[in-house]
Amino acid sequence: MNFFGENMECPVCGGEKCIRKSAVEIYKDLIELFFKYQDKESEVTFKKHPTVGEIGECEKTGKKLWYCPYCDKPFPENYELDKVTVECPHCKKTLCIPVSNRTFC
Ligand SMILES: [Zn+2]
Ligand SMILES: [Zn+2]
Repeated sequence: MNFFGENMECPVCGGEKCIRKSAVEIYKDLIELFFKYQDKESEVTFKKHPTVGEIGECEKTGKKLWYCPYCDKPFPENYELDKVTVECPHCKKTLCIPVSNRTFC
């Protein structure tokens, strides 16, 4: 399923204003490049797995909204402290969390 070009519903509150469509478009361009140069054998997490897209913030709950490049779906942030990766709640693939959320490098 692909939400591109349609109104995306917020995965938290169901609203249509929480997700920034422009951010999704920019992210899709960037992640295309990532997959082009992706190194699946790499020891470096950020070369091996794509970083989630930061595509907005839920207006009602303030939760950050992330985007999975594998299944093209938004989901609410779900990172755990001291972890640099998360699992997509939809397709269970490993994704890196954005730099701004990392607690270490
Ligand atoms: Zn929302
Ligand atoms: Zn996914």
